[in-house]
Amino acid sequence: AERPYIVGNWKMNGTRAMLSEARAIDRGAQRYMKVEVAIAPPFTLIHAVHKEAEQIGVGAQDCHPGEGGAHTGDISAPMIADSGAKFVVLGHSERRGDHGESDELIARKIDAAIDAGLRIILCCGESLETRDAGEAENFVLGQLKAALPDIADAGERLTIAYEPIWAIGTGRTAGAEDILQMHGAIRELLGETYGEDAANTIRILYGGSVKPDNAGEILSLENVGGALVGGASLSAESFLGIVNAAS
Ligand code: 13P
Repeated sequence: AERPYIVGNWKMNGTRAMLSEARAIDRGAQRYMKVEVAIAPPFTLIHAVHKEAEQIGVGAQDCHPGEGGAHTGDISAPMIADSGAKFVVLGHSERRGDHGESDELIARKIDAAIDAGLRIILCCGESLETRDAGEAENFVLGQLKAALPDIADAGERLTIAYEPIWAIGTGRTAGAEDILQMHGAIRELLGETYGEDAANTIRILYGGSVKPDNAGEILSLENVGGALVGGASLSAESFLGIVNAAS
């Protein structure tokens, strides 16, 4: 089976006081070599976490689609790579919501990240309204079709994260049936896009209120290759509890 991938998304949390937590995550992860562990701290901490990290991967939570220039307040993919990050999370529902990011913009960001040599975690997920209308699968597959990059090494470069918006930060996780169905549909789309062999090496993470006590069940589901963790990644104890559940 694929190596499970557990990624902490720190969102807009973390000052230098959190570096000790990152260090604890890194040291703890060394006990779980069969699990790939990474965190995406805010931009301000990427370089410091990168310098501390011996085991875990470090990534960013967004990038600008351009290489550089007159874009006050933005951070480009080459700058992210230079800071020591190896991947970037793109298309998170909070970026889509807070900043009105379209599928088209996300596709351009993916291209920029690829050009900069970064790996990508592409997020997708529907609102409760869309799910209740019976449109969840169509909606999520549409998000992916609009953004999946045309690259030969998708198996190495790309990770998908399915995060139903109604499960993020709510304490409510999607049911096993819903996860199985959505991850299966995503796997099928990846197969059509990249061919079976490459598609089977692309991990599909689940995200949304993953905690140490529900991680084992979620991670045991078919086509769930890991987790994208928000709140529970801010403490080494709870994040390593999820890593332990993945091992
Ligand atoms: P929570 O784990 O806090 O629900 O956040 C999930 C998420 O959005 C990770 O990207």
